[in-house]
Amino acid sequence: MAASDMDNTELLSALHAIVGEVGVLQGSDMAAYEEGARYGQGRARLVVRPADVAQVQAVVRLCAARGIALLPQGANTGMVGASTPDMSGTQLVLSLSRLRSHCEVDVANRSVVVDAGVTLQELNDKLEPHGLWFPIDLGANPSIGGMVATNTGGTRLIRYGDVRSNLMALQVVLMDPPGEVLELGRALRKNNTGVDWKQLFVGGSGAIVTRATIQVHARPTQRATALVVPASDEAVMELLQAFERDLGDWLAAFEGISGNAMQAAIDHVPNLRNPFAPDDAPEFAILVELEANAAAKYSQLDLQEALNSFLEDQFESTIVNAALGNATELWHLRHSISEGARALGKPIAFDVSVPRSRIMEFCRKGRELVARDYPFLTVVDFGHIADGGVHFNVIWRKDATEPYDPAVVQRLRDAIYGMVVQDFGGSYSAEHGVGPHNLAYYQRFTPPLLQQWADGWRDRLDPQHLCGTVDLGTAKN
Ligand SMILES: Cc1cc2nc3c(=O)[nH]c(=O)nc-3n(C[C@H](O)[C@H](O)[C@H](O)COP(=O)(O)OP(=O)(O)OC[C@H]3O[C@@H](n4cnc5c(N)ncnc54)[C@H](O)[C@@H]3O)c2cc1C
Repeated sequence: MAASDMDNTELLSALHAIVGEVGVLQGSDMAAYEEGARYGQGRARLVVRPADVAQVQAVVRLCAARGIALLPQGANTGMVGASTPDMSGTQLVLSLSRLRSHCEVDVANRSVVVDAGVTLQELNDKLEPHGLWFPIDLGANPSIGGMVATNTGGTRLIRYGDVRSNLMALQVVLMDPPGEVLELGRALRKNNTGVDWKQLFVGGSGAIVTRATIQVHARPTQRATALVVPASDEAVMELLQAFERDLGDWLAAFEGISGNAMQAAIDHVPNLRNPFAPDDAPEFAILVELEANAAAKYSQLDLQEALNSFLEDQFESTIVNAALGNATELWHLRHSISEGARALGKPIAFDVSVPRSRIMEFCRKGRELVARDYPFLTVVDFGHIADGGVHFNVIWRKDATEPYDPAVVQRLRDAIYGMVVQDFGGSYSAEHGVGPHNLAYYQRFTPPLLQQWADGWRDRLDPQHLCGTVDLGTAKN
């Protein structure tokens, strides 16, 4: 990476000329941009917040001309330390949070053209009056640009797919030629005119995402939710297959929650209760949700009744208990697990995936490994069982018998990721990306030829290697 030849006073006045005083932050005002949601804590040179694409272009041109490293940032909810600057104090954080004036809904096309800085919640508020939504569902409120750059998954992936599968078109500002705007794709569901270039910017970087055109979906008219307790680990897949066979058109979520995860949320997050009280939290439960769009006028469908009757049939074979109803409360419990786990101590997070047929086996072997080699650590696992994803989080509790030791964390990470990738044919990062946090595993598990290709693509996109946190081709977020 070339060193910048511009001092801070000169840079500040150049940025003021582009974005005005309101568009630049310095000193303590930068704190929220320097610390990540889970990992990443650094020092920004300055934070620049362009309000339109022309300002993004001008900032990029300035950076390219004067060798200034820049780091795109959306809502800073990323989980792999890729959205925060390093400790060098040389990186300019390019926050897209003010790039939010454009959000144009095409109701008949079921699509929306939206600026990168618009948040998921804002987008859904805008879509609601049209009976539409963007159903990527997670316990955070990311920006659309960040969602594209990380290819966000979430809890409804089995029904609606990830960001990648809903992306129709993308606008990016390039590092080379500096500041050039590239429009990739159109608001089309079919377009077989060669390589789908926009996908090279999904889950990667080396350019600034400024606008996306995404497919949105009809809001469900009915929902039915239940938290069920499987009869055994083996019963989990039998239950999922029964759902897909009998109610498959409506299955939207099938989320696993371990007893430790449920208890951590109940104990530490206000206004949560154990849905199975007065019994203890079960060892494992599954949050199931069905969604349907059938209008009452044309359909006799009562989704909750269908779910209840299905669960009755499953009693004593695949399930042994169920808490029905209050969807808001059940989802609040699900989305509070991360907060509950953080309250217990320091999380060592594993966002992994395996073929879903082996997910319960992986969780069992992972727990056995931790209990055997690291008995002072606590596993708080939960995940998107139906898509094979699991947040196999291990907590170094505040009251653990051993003091926190980064060398132990490193050994644990090597052991779990080795098991996931080598023994289970899985992925060491199911949905959060690579970033500095997972860089060593990218280098260990990605075939050398693919790393060369990624590096070549990065060289083409960003020849000075100015944009982003780490140099690993496109797979850096
Ligand atoms: C409580 C919690 C729960 C979560 N649950 C899930 C989950 O279930 N599934 C899931 O997939 N993720 C989950 N995440 C992770 C996170 O929300 C996603 O990675 C998110 O989509 C990142 O978007 P962001 O706007 O916050 O991006 P940031 O965190 O700001 O940035 C993330 C990366 O994208 C790059 N980037 C951001 N904006 C742009 C842009 N406009 N152009 C180019 N690059 C850009 C950054 O440089 C960085 O590398 C969770 C996070 C939290 C805190």
